[in-house]
Amino acid sequence: MPRPILATVHLEALRHNLQRCRAAAGTARVWAVVKANAYGHGLERVYPALRGADGFALLDLEEAQRLRALGWRGPILLLEGCFEPRDLELCSRLDLWHVVHCEDQIDWLSAHKTHRPHHVFLKMNSGMNRLGFRPEAYRAAWARLQALPQVGEVGLMTHFSDADGLRRGREGVLHQVEAFVAASADLPGERSLCNSAATLRHALRLPLGDRGPALAADWVRAGIALYGSAPDHPVHAAQDWDLQPTLTLASRLIAIQPVAAGETVGYGSIYTAPRDMRVGIVACGYADGYPRHASLGQDHGAPVLVRGVRTRLVGRVSMDMLAVDLTPVEAGGVPCAIGDEVVLWGRSASAAVLPIDEVAQAAGTIAYELMCAVAARVPFAVA
Ligand code: PLP
Repeated sequence: MPRPILATVHLEALRHNLQRCRAAAGTARVWAVVKANAYGHGLERVYPALRGADGFALLDLEEAQRLRALGWRGPILLLEGCFEPRDLELCSRLDLWHVVHCEDQIDWLSAHKTHRPHHVFLKMNSGMNRLGFRPEAYRAAWARLQALPQVGEVGLMTHFSDADGLRRGREGVLHQVEAFVAASADLPGERSLCNSAATLRHALRLPLGDRGPALAADWVRAGIALYGSAPDHPVHAAQDWDLQPTLTLASRLIAIQPVAAGETVGYGSIYTAPRDMRVGIVACGYADGYPRHASLGQDHGAPVLVRGVRTRLVGRVSMDMLAVDLTPVEAGGVPCAIGDEVVLWGRSASAAVLPIDEVAQAAGTIAYELMCAVAARVPFAVA
């Protein structure tokens, strides 16, 4: 018997979430962001559901090659552009749009001998201070690109640091929009600003400039919302945005321990049984990508579903196992047994849902990290 752990990708949920992003984006086209192997879901697995997007945005040439091998002929955007000059050749062969965020990338383009013009998105650093030209340098970069025979279309883009509104509400977006508009209002070209949070919260509600079109502009770049996580959790839950979970991590009970009041559970003895209780041992640990910080002490254990009933972790997560309190599950009178279903996040056979955002929050992280961290030893299925 294989070890009882499985990650399941839900294609219907991906399709549903794509439609949600489309609705939130109005007439803007949707780049489906599939970097990091489709946020850990697997590019090849999500492709049948996401090929209804207008384009795919991803990180590197290897992912772009895989997408072309799947038969995708439409637009692909390299979100960080080329990492070195020789990438340009493959960019051209694969017919990719690529981001240009620094002078070096323009130098590389100007030295590139190409039979076909490169289409690019010029990135503005409007406040994130990660990639892009500062607003005061943006026009000069645009003019340089425009003058190159190697360059075809030039789109304009920026990326928000606070679109989730958790720290600065709408202000976080507004000051970046202002900077973007001030430096680019009269430049031609398609525009792309919104990630998932900005798409769901602001795309059709805020204008691009005083009397401009909606913030959605020409393209939104939707990532995490496609994968069923609320980009602004805990202000909103996924169900508030009508997003469905696209990834279930499930395992089974492999042992049950009766624990007497006062005894401890697991490494470091961080949990002491407050009464006689039964503890279920689950075949999932940090070597599967489950976060070790999901359980930190007596009163801090992430939620989990056993047979579709919500309970919580007790004791430390170890490399291959974790422990859960079976009390709420057995309250109905049916004792748990080895082999019972345990859902670490996602959807149970009984249709109960444990949002990945809640597990991430309990572990002091975000759903993005949990999705990307599912370990290579975990088998995947598609449903
Ligand atoms: N656009 C850019 C430039 C990004 O780096 C990312 C992801 O980090 C996205 C869009 C998608 O973001 P999200 O997953 O929050 O929608």
